Amino acid sequence: MNNFEEYCTKFVQSVGNKEGSVSPIVTNSAAFAYGDSLTGEGIFDGSIKKPLYSRMGNPTTARLENILAEMDNGVGAVATSSGMGATTLATMSLLESGDEIISIGGLFGGTYAYFDETLTRFGIKTHFYDVDEFEKIQNAINKKTKIIFLESVGNPNMRLPDIKKIASIANEAGVILMIDNTITPLSIKPIELGADIVVYSTTKIISGNASALGGCAVFRAINDGEDKLKSPRYAFLNNFIKKMGKMALVANAKKRALRDFGMSANAHASYQTLLGLETLPLRMQRVIKSVEIITKELDKNGFNINHPCLDNHPHHKRYKDDFSNGCGTLFTIDMGSKEEAFKLLNNTKLAFITANIGDSRTLALHMASTIYNDFNKQQREFLGITDGLIRVSIGLENPQDIIDDFIQARG
Ligand SMILES: *Cc1c(COP(=O)(O)O)cnc(C)c1O
Repeated sequence: MNNFEEYCTKFVQSVGNKEGSVSPIVTNSAAFAYGDSLTGEGIFDGSIKKPLYSRMGNPTTARLENILAEMDNGVGAVATSSGMGATTLATMSLLESGDEIISIGGLFGGTYAYFDETLTRFGIKTHFYDVDEFEKIQNAINKKTKIIFLESVGNPNMRLPDIKKIASIANEAGVILMIDNTITPLSIKPIELGADIVVYSTTKIISGNASALGGCAVFRAINDGEDKLKSPRYAFLNNFIKKMGKMALVANAKKRALRDFGMSANAHASYQTLLGLETLPLRMQRVIKSVEIITKELDKNGFNINHPCLDNHPHHKRYKDDFSNGCGTLFTIDMGSKEEAFKLLNNTKLAFITANIGDSRTLALHMASTIYNDFNKQQREFLGITDGLIRVSIGLENPQDIIDDFIQARG
């Protein structure tokens, strides 16, 4: 069975209720009453598992967290108000002033700005590398390195990482590997490949229809015996490991980030996300097939396409070997100049011009004038942002309709 078929059964079965309301109940309450003080005490010390206050967890959100944790073989998950919220939660729960991050590949513009501008203000330094700079990555690891951060697919540079190799570097050095798997849920299982934490923007293909902003961080279990996280590098985790055992990373994220920064998911967004999740395996299967059909046909028609399914892509072999379940909804077209890019976008009848990705509809955007408009020349070069670059996210439309539309739009 491929990754998708397995989850066709799991998702619809676990989102629905077999008794009472079939659709998940939305618990809109911000606060929860404890009934009596003894119960209140138990809820606060963790011995009673009941809702405390919606900033710390909500029953509708908990359902989403359980399903996403199971999807990735995690021990637990924390859903957040956005994908950036998930990245902030997962990183801020591990970092202190003076620490360092190694960021590999990509990189999503928001994450790049967060590492390069915002975290710098708090004395946290990030080193950026391409996915294939293995030696430089290894040499950059030092005592202060707390996180190696990796995107499963470079957005928008479309470069694919050797996840197993990077995981082995992280594991040998005893450093946490965090993977942003927003573009490849189900296609890539980061924890199975050696990651410790997976972050998602559920806003994208997990919800799939631009109806809810959201994110989620999934955490692996701490091992009973030896574990790289029991080292002095992560001394602050000791207490959580003693108290919470295999759940330590989840507890740490809730106490050290969610409680204080408050990037909590709201119940209604969690509900919308659960509805999207039900059809995720079906949509993923369709879209990854369509992306191959469309990129190959546009390439034949003389478009300058960047996608690893094409023979000329430097990671074509990695795509065949390690990404047999596809690499998501994205590809890019380089039109050579801003003028040509705008012309194509103005002439397409089907593509929606928007910064979103992973939608039921095909979306497109000129990169340099939008998401990367305030990035300097050097930053753009590193991220592969050329003047004529358009990012396309393929939707559920008939692939031939999209091919015909882009060809007519070029004029
Ligand atoms: C969109 C996106 C994010 C941020 O998610 P939001 O829900 O918009 O905050 C992070 N990583 C990747 C790869 C994304 O595409």
